[in-house]
Amino acid sequence: MSDCLFCKIIKNEIPAQIVYEDAGVLAFLGINPNNPGHTLVISKNHCENLLDARGEDLRTLISVIPKIAKAICDSLDYEGFNLNVNNGAVAGQVVNHLHFHIIPRKAGDGHELFFGRPYEEGEIEEVGKQIQKKLK
Ligand code: AMP
Ligand code: ZN
Repeated sequence: MSDCLFCKIIKNEIPAQIVYEDAGVLAFLGINPNNPGHTLVISKNHCENLLDARGEDLRTLISVIPKIAKAICDSLDYEGFNLNVNNGAVAGQVVNHLHFHIIPRKAGDGHELFFGRPYEEGEIEEVGKQIQKKLK
């Protein structure tokens, strides 16, 4: 897509620090990293988000992520990583070209991403049933 920032990176129209490229996938460093080495992995075929991705593109994308994540952790001495997709504006998606964030993590880095609260009595069954019904 001509006005898509990440398509412009794919086409070399704007610069990026590319760490991996193959026929279908590009991975490059994000410019506002949670930790140095925070990498964005994208398909070269434009799609807006996880819900309109073609299965084949998704499989290709997912299949290279472990290799890239391992290289980030091994080269920069991280102990683990978060894999994240912000899907939709409400979830924090700013660039509308599907991208996986690989966020490398070290103990004590302060990026605690997940907060939770326990379900109320009976709530987990109710919520589960509603989702199951949609998936049937
Ligand atoms: P999201 O909020 O999930 O859409 O993430 C957008 C990501 O794109 C953020 O991690 C930004 O740091 C990254 N980003 C935005 N502009 C650029 C750019 N020109 N080059 C590399 N990464 C970018
Ligand atoms: Zn795009």
